[in-house]
Amino acid sequence: MGEGDDMTEHPAIWFQASACSGCVVSVLNGVAPNIRDLIVDHRVPGHHVSLRFQPTVMAAAGDAALEILAATEEVKEGYVLVVEGAVPTGAGGLFGYAAKRGAQTTMHARALELAENALAIVALGTCSSYGGMHAAEPNPAGCVSIGEALSGAGIEKPVINVPGCPPHPDWFTGTVAHALLFGLPGPDAVDTAGRPKRFYGRLVHDLCQRRGDFEAHKFAEAAGEPGCLYELGCKGPWTHADCPEREFNGGVNWCVKAGSPCQGCVEPFFPDVSCPIYAKIGLLELPRIVRDEESGELVAVRRP
Ligand code: SF4
Ligand code: SF4
Repeated sequence: MGEGDDMTEHPAIWFQASACSGCVVSVLNGVAPNIRDLIVDHRVPGHHVSLRFQPTVMAAAGDAALEILAATEEVKEGYVLVVEGAVPTGAGGLFGYAAKRGAQTTMHARALELAENALAIVALGTCSSYGGMHAAEPNPAGCVSIGEALSGAGIEKPVINVPGCPPHPDWFTGTVAHALLFGLPGPDAVDTAGRPKRFYGRLVHDLCQRRGDFEAHKFAEAAGEPGCLYELGCKGPWTHADCPEREFNGGVNWCVKAGSPCQGCVEPFFPDVSCPIYAKIGLLELPRIVRDEESGELVAVRRP
């Protein structure tokens, strides 16, 4: 490992439950830092993430891959567990199977088993954090977040939620790098939804480049028009993330800038409450925005 004499190794297992693989694809698209910075180039001084099992990208397959997984489970110092996807609990977990050396088991049972020996868990994506698309009504598979699955089984482990559908790669690499350098985030560093405030501490609405249009009541009436997308169903006023500042694809673009309303994809209410995608949610539910009784216009209530 070259400079690795003083390097602390952190074994990691990436477990995919009921997922579309969008989260891992997003993380692999990270630019600065990128995933290579984290797991190959040792950009976090003194720490190296040894990502031993990641089914989407690892070279090994079949029994060889499962041997690596089994060996990592036995590392006596423990490992970091990244969970991508929701956990299907319906019908005894039969909606989702997972491979295990010498046996076949359910995603639910496997997630609990892996979590038991983990030092900490990163719930990557909205499905893993809150159930997300896989737990959308009517949810016949009984999908739940990894946090719910753990509490349902009485397992207490630190879980950091990194939601998004998909999450911005920086939210994941930044959260992991921060945890390596400074330890797990304390209660003051996460919000009530278990997300690091560093990335999810502000409203999309407060950072949006079209906020001026909202204040000036310049609303787009059709897709592709300039103006605030509130009337087209934008959920930015409810949504906590730094997408307008950080932007996706290496800082190139984000939903509203691309002409699409924010869907609140990082929130526990996604997608059941935020759909239909292009439907406006009632004004009275907007935080810090009210309708002036005399003029009937929308007014933003400033922070004290
Ligand atoms: S409602 Fe949406 S488009 Fe309009 S300012 Fe807020 S975040 Fe931007
Ligand atoms: S702007 Fe909204 S829908 Fe788009 S990625 Fe950010 S939180 Fe998700």
